[in-house]
Amino acid sequence: MNLSDLSLTQAQALLQKGDISSHELTLAHLERITALDGALHAFLHLDGASALKQAAAADARRKTQDHPLPLLGIPLAVKDVFVVAGMPCTCGSKILEGYRPPFTATAVKKLQEAGMVILGKTNTDEFAMGSSTENSAYGVTHNPWDLERVPGGSSGGSAAAVAAHFTPAALGSDTGGSVRQPASFCGVTGLKPTYGRVSRYGLVAYGSSLDSVGALGRSAADVAAVFSAMAGRDELDATSQDVPVSAVDLRLNGERPLNGIRIGVAKEYFIDGIQAEVEQAVRVAIRQLESLGAEIRPVSLPHTEYALPVYYLIAPAEASANLARFDGVRYGPRLTGQAMWDMFTRTRGVKFGEEATRRVMLGTYALSAGYYDAFYGQAQKVRTLIKRDFEQAFAEVDAIACPVAPTTAFKIGAHGDDPLAMYLEDVFTLPANLAGVPGLAFPVGFDKARLPIGMQLMGRHFGEADLLRLAHAYQQVTDWHWMQPGRV
Ligand code: GLN
Repeated sequence: MNLSDLSLTQAQALLQKGDISSHELTLAHLERITALDGALHAFLHLDGASALKQAAAADARRKTQDHPLPLLGIPLAVKDVFVVAGMPCTCGSKILEGYRPPFTATAVKKLQEAGMVILGKTNTDEFAMGSSTENSAYGVTHNPWDLERVPGGSSGGSAAAVAAHFTPAALGSDTGGSVRQPASFCGVTGLKPTYGRVSRYGLVAYGSSLDSVGALGRSAADVAAVFSAMAGRDELDATSQDVPVSAVDLRLNGERPLNGIRIGVAKEYFIDGIQAEVEQAVRVAIRQLESLGAEIRPVSLPHTEYALPVYYLIAPAEASANLARFDGVRYGPRLTGQAMWDMFTRTRGVKFGEEATRRVMLGTYALSAGYYDAFYGQAQKVRTLIKRDFEQAFAEVDAIACPVAPTTAFKIGAHGDDPLAMYLEDVFTLPANLAGVPGLAFPVGFDKARLPIGMQLMGRHFGEADLLRLAHAYQQVTDWHWMQPGRV
């Protein structure tokens, strides 16, 4: 058996028994990356020497501990929007080329403390703006299921890395779908937790009221392990919440473990234009959850259609403020100019890519005097209505099931000259970010082109464990999550 084929949970069991070492496990993944990432380009930065050092430390720690930490010695890939001391951080942008942060993001730090081995940094759309990784200044990541297609985005490098068995788990960020949509396109499981559940300290900010730190892995059980190790209050992020997080309990009872759970199906998520195979696979998966005991009920989220315009005002507005710090003075490269102002504009004009520039322009416009009330202010009001839709729905059901994206992975270049078509990829994922609720994506089938199809479950604030249990129950009776791309 190739050790890189082990899921996190499988690797955990073998490490605990002493059948394998973290050194062997890490080496197997590094070798696979070295052999195959030329075709995928999932990693922007790989640090094999450091990974092997961390693995050796984990092996030594295991020998001295009676009850070693559950994640000790397990490899992890980190999306290149989190700072990790000792590694470059580019955010997929030329404006941060060569930047080496002196500190480590809290989520990463917690996972390091739990004993995980950081392999390197994965590709992303520039500043996490995009749905395909095509907006990365360092080149696109290819989907392991079909190299001509995108892996989704913006955490496309992380999703492709998990799908290609480069790593058992990866970190992503999700502002409007960036963990869930690539998880869906690559056939892996991805969790966007509740806003404030995982510290954002050290995650380079995109849309601060929407950004959340998520995990990707091969199964709900794997994702649960990473999630519970990184969640929790952090002094360094004022928006992180003090809600207790314990290990997610995945024990299931009997033939119908979902008895008593109500799952809502909203007609607003089964709209025209959705790929027929996607709708069909999701409906079959919902029936499967029903056969596991869940009760399926119709619900309505009437303001869903406004999520897209609302998000594309709020996210760029917040982005325009957040990206103001990249000015050629504090981070990354600087282009010189006649005067200081010249230096700012030249550096930003040349080093930001097209999509980042578009967002800054859109956001600055939406926030400008005279337009603020009409755009940003109005969007915030509608955001409240979207949030209320969820509150009302969750008074009747425990989770909402829907597709992750309207289609399976599209061809590289398909939306090249049409930003709006790219924005439409996010219709089903944006509402959870606007409402701050958790969302989980996991594979439920394939289309005719043998591309993975994902289903999304959304839940109540701080209800991650419920979503993970539902998906875990589904994964006990199906094996879509074990399917492996054959082309890499
Ligand atoms: N695709 C969305 C955007 O471009 C969401 C990205 C994200 O979640 N980071 O903004």
